[in-house]
Amino acid sequence: MGQATSGYLLQTGRHSILLDCGSGVLGQLQQYTELEEIDAVVLSHYHHDHVADLGCLQYAARVLMDLGQRDKPLDIYGHAEDGNFAGLTYHAFTRGHAIDTDTPLCLGDVTFTFQRNVHPDPCFSMRVESNGKVLAYISDTQWEDGLVQTAKDADLLICESSLYNEYKGVVSGHLTAGEAGRIAQEAHAKSLVLSHLPHFGNHADLVAQAAGVFNGPVELAETGKIWEL
Ligand SMILES: [Zn+2]
Ligand SMILES: [Zn+2]
Repeated sequence: MGQATSGYLLQTGRHSILLDCGSGVLGQLQQYTELEEIDAVVLSHYHHDHVADLGCLQYAARVLMDLGQRDKPLDIYGHAEDGNFAGLTYHAFTRGHAIDTDTPLCLGDVTFTFQRNVHPDPCFSMRVESNGKVLAYISDTQWEDGLVQTAKDADLLICESSLYNEYKGVVSGHLTAGEAGRIAQEAHAKSLVLSHLPHFGNHADLVAQAAGVFNGPVELAETGKIWEL
């Protein structure tokens, strides 16, 4: 109850970047930062559970600019492989920028590299590096060997875990908890956060299934949780 879908606020001390903007994110976000402090948004893909609040955030950028509380448009990064990309630009208030797997994205002291996922629509995982620390965010995908490279030596791996192990092969386009654990183990990640959790069953089973493969700490994502790297 009261939980949001995907949305992660990354703060480096110099920059505030939002990764995905699902339902419930905008309300949560304002408990941790002023909206005018957000420098950029980086989107994994355009499914509703990752972008539902984006329109409201774009409108907030407009209001803030109209009030003189924001002096530049909000930069929004997402793939340009379908018609959703055009919606990232909203008059002079937000600007859309295309991401791809060939071009690292540098936003101040933060560098992103992207990995193409295996999902029904184009979707990208991201490796985020700043000040010698690595955050890996593996968004909606089924198993793909390259995911291990994206998570290599990550200080924190946030990995989608839509499925209990029993559903491997039954539902495509998503990872099981055991596969999330395998990525963390093979990548030598320091810690694993399971996110994008199923809507049924006992989530403690997900932790047990991931921990059966990964030797490091495993926890569940939860609205409002904060990690310091
Ligand atoms: Zn999706
Ligand atoms: Zn999703």
